[in-house]
Amino acid sequence: ISHRRISVLGATGSIGVNTLDVIAHMGGPEAFDVVALTGASNVALLAEQAKAVNAEVAVTADERRYHDLKAALAGTGIEAAAGRGALIEAAGRPADITMAAIVGMAGLEPTLAAAANGGVMALANKECLVSAGDLFIAAVREAGGTLLPVDSEHNAIFQVLDPAQKRAVERIILTASGGPFRTFTREQMAGVTAETARRHPNWSMGLKISIDSASMFNKALEMVEARHLFNVAPDQVEVIVHPQSIVHSMVAYADGSVLAQLGPSDMRTAIGYCLAWPFRAHMPVERLDFAKLAQLDFEAPDEARFPALRLARQALAHAGVAGAVLNGAKEVALDAFIDGRLGFLAMAETVERVMEAMATWPSAASLADVIAADAEARERARALL
Ligand code: NDP
Ligand code: MG
Repeated sequence: ISHRRISVLGATGSIGVNTLDVIAHMGGPEAFDVVALTGASNVALLAEQAKAVNAEVAVTADERRYHDLKAALAGTGIEAAAGRGALIEAAGRPADITMAAIVGMAGLEPTLAAAANGGVMALANKECLVSAGDLFIAAVREAGGTLLPVDSEHNAIFQVLDPAQKRAVERIILTASGGPFRTFTREQMAGVTAETARRHPNWSMGLKISIDSASMFNKALEMVEARHLFNVAPDQVEVIVHPQSIVHSMVAYADGSVLAQLGPSDMRTAIGYCLAWPFRAHMPVERLDFAKLAQLDFEAPDEARFPALRLARQALAHAGVAGAVLNGAKEVALDAFIDGRLGFLAMAETVERVMEAMATWPSAASLADVIAADAEARERARALL
């Protein structure tokens, strides 16, 4: 593979750190020129990463940390920048590959700026698709880019969905681990803290997505993400609980065949797939040993204990800005849960009440529509806290 220019948005996060590991494993400076690395609070790590790969520019989204970043990069020749405008500018610099791994709706505008470049968009930030799916996909397409999903389920589906057979797809089957509270009653879930909710049984991920996995809001977002990525009808998106997280997702075809992608619970497989695409690279991940696995279990999801799944169905049915509303309300409720201001079960209750309160579901015709819907959902959610 020849030298390619790559930017990593959200470099200091869980996906970002794994991406830099994959870049190093795939040849580092022999294979890649790193354009922009971005972070927010963790400027010490950001500066260290930028020096290790000799990035062109390092950006923190947090303006107050500019001087720390600048000082840490003094004498290196690496540009330091800070603030939302600088983040969007750096994200838009020409690159052949962008890893979009900022967490939450905060990632939408920087990722859109990167999408305008064309090139490969390795998308981890699912909120881009949940909030602004049609717009985001149109932006990538108009720029002549290629959208590759990093989210393990969607990456799995991408791997087994032959575009030539698209018309024969009957169902997209997303697997869900069920999270740490898979067997909990609602009474047991009522008192859990962020500390227990973040302990995912199989995956090591950022704080917010780990808690979203426990509430199954992560799967709810992934249902909307799948609908946009694979352009299927809402009732073609199915969820099945699979506690071992070995089958990363499946596609069911009209002839009765079901194709699945399997692998270890290590994001470097999906990240490496996107960075090596259309080829495959060696990845230093654990190999599956089927004799040791012995058993793979599947069970129906329980929407009574995990109402997030039901809310996702509603968002899919409403379309338009419903995804932005679901996500905006969820982000506010999640922050409140992390801060100890809201109970675990109250997260879904808050989102449900916000969705019920929305009088109309405008179409998501422009970025302004999406941003307005997101803001309204956040305001309504905050009022309920
Ligand atoms: P982390 O919380 O670990 O990292 C988030 C990154 O975004 C960090 O670099 C963080 O900077 C940065 N960031 C935080 N807030 C802002 C902001 N307001 N503006 C700009 N940058 C900001 O998240 P993950 O790596 O776990 O997840 C990233 C995305 O990938 C999410 O959308 C998640 O849903 C998705 N994803 C993650 C998976 C995983 O395995 N982790 C799997 C599938 C999808 P800093 O840390 O310096 O503050
Ligand atoms: Mg996932």
